[in-house]
Amino acid sequence: MSKKVMAVNAGSSSVKFKLFNMPEEVVICSGMADRVGWEDAQFKIKYEGGEKKVTLPILDHEVAVKLILDSLIEEKIVSSYDEIEIVGHRVVQGGKYYDDSVMFDDQVAERVTSLISLAPLHNKPNLMGFETFKKLLPNAKNVAVFDTSFHQTMAPQDYMFPIPYEFYEKYDIRRYGFHGTSHKYLSIEGQKLIKDSKTNRIVTCHIGSGASITAIRDGKCVATSMGLTPLGGVMMGTRTGDIDPSVMWYACKMENKDIFEMYDIFNKKSGMLGVSGFSNDSRDIDTAMAKGDERAILTDNLFIRRTVDFIAQYIARLGGADLIVFSAGIGENSPKFRRLVIEELKGAFGLELDEVANKIRGSIQVISTPNSKIKLAVIPTDEELMIARDCMRISK
Ligand code: ADP
Repeated sequence: MSKKVMAVNAGSSSVKFKLFNMPEEVVICSGMADRVGWEDAQFKIKYEGGEKKVTLPILDHEVAVKLILDSLIEEKIVSSYDEIEIVGHRVVQGGKYYDDSVMFDDQVAERVTSLISLAPLHNKPNLMGFETFKKLLPNAKNVAVFDTSFHQTMAPQDYMFPIPYEFYEKYDIRRYGFHGTSHKYLSIEGQKLIKDSKTNRIVTCHIGSGASITAIRDGKCVATSMGLTPLGGVMMGTRTGDIDPSVMWYACKMENKDIFEMYDIFNKKSGMLGVSGFSNDSRDIDTAMAKGDERAILTDNLFIRRTVDFIAQYIARLGGADLIVFSAGIGENSPKFRRLVIEELKGAFGLELDEVANKIRGSIQVISTPNSKIKLAVIPTDEELMIARDCMRISK
């Protein structure tokens, strides 16, 4: 019997949702409440044969969820709330506790609460989403799907930082990695493209405004670029990625700012935005580059360099690779980004790009020639589908 499963991603000022018929994996509708907490918030819903977009006050998460559920009834997508049997919640930080998705009950909520200090921007709204759905859909099952669980298979030498060991013991300071739901999805879909290969080694590149790269062997994460928080790893739209930690100290000293202010700058005003000085969107950078803007050219070069360094490191870490996957906003939609990355790697690793296939945007496609020593592919990520699949698996 088919079940209606809703995947939910509750952020600090938005609630995104996608409703599926499972196990058929058919999307019934999707949408989001954006600018939650504002008078001029927006609500969007898209379903087969229709689309609705309205601006209205959405003062908190409960109002947002109620709006989502009521619009399902209004648009005759469901006839009662009870038709939604399972709600899968994205939870960003699961700490060391969860190596898989779990039924989301009060005990799990308590654990997620205890992890708020590690991920305040994310875990708090994720919990709000859970509490609201629990209240409004008392008969539905809830499942927590953590960004961190896929990365729990890393070995200590891959997740420990070389800092005093007691910081790990006392405060659990270590690499957790994020975007795990996406990397897991890419690994599952990627394995279908290399099913004839004797080995199963994949480097997945989730490159959007947040970006991370993961080394995966036999479907298990070996290494990943994000760290204690999603600030680590490759350069991103507004985040630094990895930098010498003394930059924090020296920049605070010279700018006369405290670490909280600087941490905010590293998260929200660095990366592409910081270097270019005008945008965190790769399309704006491309437009400015075409006009010869030197800072835009530097931004692009730096972005490519940092991506390439991680991919190269991970190919070595896996003892070679069978597949490199490009995904998320930039990875899926920018042939230029992929071409420049592959250009840098091709000499060392024998890569050969199929220029025509590389023109693809936003759909699954092998983009290497048969001669390439490592297969290259674009795979659009689908974190919501992964959440819905986990709902079915976990709530049995
Ligand atoms: P996130 O989910 O982390 O917010 P996305 O995966 O949606 O981010 O990626 C958003 C980024 O993808 C945008 O900032 C933009 O730079 C880039 N992007 C989206 N579409 C294109 C495109 N057609 N060409 C180049 N870059 C694109």
